[in-house]
Amino acid sequence: MQIAHKIELKTNNVQVTYFKRACGVARFAWNWGLAEWDQQFKSGQKPSGMALKKQFNALKEAEFPWTYEVTKYASQQPFLDLQDAWKRFFKKLGGKPRFKKKGKSHDSFYVGGDQIKLDESKRRIKIPNLGWVKMRESLRFEGKINSVVISRTADRWFASIQVETPISFPRHENQVSVGVDLGVLQLATLSDGVMFQSPKPLQKLLRRLKRLSRKFSKKIKGSGRSKKTAESLARLHMRIANIRRDTLHKVTTTIADNYSHIGIEELHVKGMVRNSKLARAISDVGLGEFRRQLTYKAEWRGSTVVIHSRFFPSSKKCSSCSNVKETLSLSERIYRCECGLTIDRDLNAAMNLNPVPKALREITPAEMTALRRSVHPVFVTSIAETGNQLQLLCG
Ligand SMILES: [Zn+2]
Repeated sequence: MQIAHKIELKTNNVQVTYFKRACGVARFAWNWGLAEWDQQFKSGQKPSGMALKKQFNALKEAEFPWTYEVTKYASQQPFLDLQDAWKRFFKKLGGKPRFKKKGKSHDSFYVGGDQIKLDESKRRIKIPNLGWVKMRESLRFEGKINSVVISRTADRWFASIQVETPISFPRHENQVSVGVDLGVLQLATLSDGVMFQSPKPLQKLLRRLKRLSRKFSKKIKGSGRSKKTAESLARLHMRIANIRRDTLHKVTTTIADNYSHIGIEELHVKGMVRNSKLARAISDVGLGEFRRQLTYKAEWRGSTVVIHSRFFPSSKKCSSCSNVKETLSLSERIYRCECGLTIDRDLNAAMNLNPVPKALREITPAEMTALRRSVHPVFVTSIAETGNQLQLLCG
């Protein structure tokens, strides 16, 4: 199975210069190929990416010697991309290939896996003709590197690393079952008491985003100041997206790593977002994305994810006596039942979502210790013990 991990690079000026040059070479090769393609097509020939690549290479030394300053792939891959783009166009799967303008098109270049090396920590990547470049995080996957695409967003550079991983992850030895309640105040509450909070820095950045967008709308379009604000806006958007993606990956990996039967709710995200009070908070944590990640990660590990219908009364049902309340307002954070159960609202919902609450055993103290260690400390607000003590979480 081929999976990609996109990692931001910690670049210095020399590296940025190289990246810009390589992107320029890739753009040049693409535009050269596209112009040739058009011309050959008009003169009744049948152009192909491979033939154009050969044609380009024959001219390279004499006419485009500067392309040798960067990886050979920067000037080779565009011809294969061009071939693909035309194929997609003829199958009506994509638009007509267009010329790339500097500053207007998406800057990127491709490097084949044979020219890429990662150091032992998997936190540095070696680029041909350049050397080692530091990465902001280590590569998440094991396996052979097929290719890397280096790209730019705002003023940051990223490496999207394609890895060929073994098809199956080791199957879970344990048979631990868990329910996961996805929420707003808490990003996720697990039926055994583990809770994941939405990161605070995100809230702060969102407030800044609001201010900045307002400022931007007041600026005169096309002015130097408006351009500057647009740049800071783009950077801020990216920081927010990064934090969000990072949080979701940490939480979903932790859950997929530790449980083999996972129950979650079918989220009617669109419907929920229509409720304006919840809208901002829900889009912040990306609950749809949460479900998507959890599902594929669990599948890789041979675990099952049970998705309960959105009509399943996970919040209103008592996890102890199964009585279903008629109403439960959003402000009621503690669930109280006539049977005597007093429990955190989200925890009650999570327990209801547990796909095999009684049939299989609960998590053992040893497994809980392992879980405690594997959970990223930033996100855990509390880990309750199993059994009766679960209720300690309330109030
Ligand atoms: Zn009850």
